[in-house]
Parts: sequence; C-alpha cells; structure tokens
Amino acid sequence: RGTLVLAATPIGNMFDASQRLKLLIEHADIVAAEDTRRLYDLANRLHLHVGGSVISYHDHNERDKADDILDQVESGACVLVVSDAGMPTINDPGLAVVRRAIERGLPVTCAPGPSAVLDALALSGLPTDRFCYEGFLPRRHAERVQHLRMLQSEQRTMVFYETLHRIADSIDDVMDAFGPHRRMALCRELTKNYEQIRRGTVDEIRQSIIDDPPRGEMVLVIEGASEDEAIAAAPSSLSTEDLAVLAI
Ligand code: SAM
Repeated sequence: RGTLVLAATPIGNMFDASQRLKLLIEHADIVAAEDTRRLYDLANRLHLHVGGSVISYHDHNERDKADDILDQVESGACVLVVSDAGMPTINDPGLAVVRRAIERGLPVTCAPGPSAVLDALALSGLPTDRFCYEGFLPRRHAERVQHLRMLQSEQRTMVFYETLHRIADSIDDVMDAFGPHRRMALCRELTKNYEQIRRGTVDEIRQSIIDDPPRGEMVLVIEGASEDEAIAAAPSSLSTEDLAVLAI
C-alpha cells in the first residue's frame, strides 16, 4: 500500500517551502492540487519538476474524488495533497479524503509547514496557551452578529480569517459583541514583503481600519473574555427553582 500525504505550502514566502514538500512535489506518484495552475506555478518558483500526474482536487469535487484517490493509495501510490496556500483542510480542501482514508484504514500522514493561523497567533502577543480557530466569520450581518454573540463568553484567544471586503463590517460587529477594550491583532500579508501586524484594543484597530484600510490577506486575533465578562455573558444554567433556593 502507498500513502496519502497532506503537505503545507508557503503562504507568501517561498523560502518556507520545506525540504519534504519539495521532495514530495518531485517524487509523489500523484499530486492532488486545489488549483493545478497554482501547483505548477509553485513548482516553477521552487525550480522543481512535478514528477507524477496531477489531478485537481477542490471544494466542489473533493467528496467524489476521495475514493478514486484512495484507490490509487491502496494500489501502492504515494499521493500528495496540496492546497493553494498553507495547510490543506484548514479552510481548504483535504478533509474529505482524510476522513475516507481513516474509514478505509489507509495510511495518511502530513508534511507540516506554514499556516496563517499559527503564524498570526504567535505574532499577536496574545495568550497562546489556549486558543480557538474560528475560520471565516459568516458573510451575512445577522449571522455574524449571532455567531459573535455566541463567542462573548469564550475565554480562549480567538483566531479568525478575514477578507478585504468584509473587514470594516466585521470589526464593527466585533466591537458590538466584545466591546471596545479587548486586545487584538490584525495580521496582514504574513511572511510577505509588506507583512504588517497592527496591535491594540478593538477600538484602536477599528479606527486604524477607517484611517488606513488594510489590503491583502489578513487574520484577526482577539483576546478571550475575562472571567467577569465570561460570567456576565454566559446564559444562566440555573432553573427558576435553583434561583429561588439561592435567594433564601
Ligand atoms: N489553508 C490556509 C492556511 O493554512 O492558512 C488558509 C486558506 S484560506 C482559503 C485563506 C485565508 O487565510 C485568507 O483569507 C487569510 O485570512 C488567511 N491567510 C492566508 N495566507 C495569509 C497571509 N500570508 N497573511 C495573512 N493571512 C493569510
């Protein structure tokens, strides 16, 4: 039997390509890439020759293709899975084939590397001992507000992916949900020439977005709730009877 290998690719800086990624691009029997042109572009920039056959594997076909890919693994192929940037499965394709490999009892491993979540978290200066990754906030205002409300009592540092178009609206909703004083970091263009980390309170970052709208790719890292905030925001789990007893 062969192996399914997920590999992280650079999120901006080509020097972050690991030796293992390079060997896999050259020697895997099959490369399943989110966007095949992006794979060839990456290989060119790294001066590599893609040795095996290349198939496209993206959000819209990942369930259908998972079994075909794994049939190849079963018959001895080394299949590399890469997304456009960063770690496959992290807001990128990959999960369907990993799940199916586990169900079919086939070997699956990972060549780790760049991912914007950990890069932003480490640079934020906020607590890293406990954190949660929240992916992208919902697009629609009403759902975003509801989602942020659900996080009002979250005490872990929170990491969100964000887009250029929605950052101004999202930060308004963050301010409504969490208030102006929490510390946060807006991390943009990580590992690239124009990498920039803006650190401050929610209020300060909101103002900086108005004064100097950020461009490029970005991640928001937001401090979790203090114990007092968490207690104030958490819905009471006590019944009316419990409360009556406590009142005595
Ligand atoms: N799989 C990727 C990873 O492991 O980070 C994430 C892919 S997701 C489709 C793309 C989002 O990741 C961007 O909208 C942005 O929020 C974040 N991102 C990716 N590269 C980034 C970078 N160089 N700087 C800041 N954020 C980045």
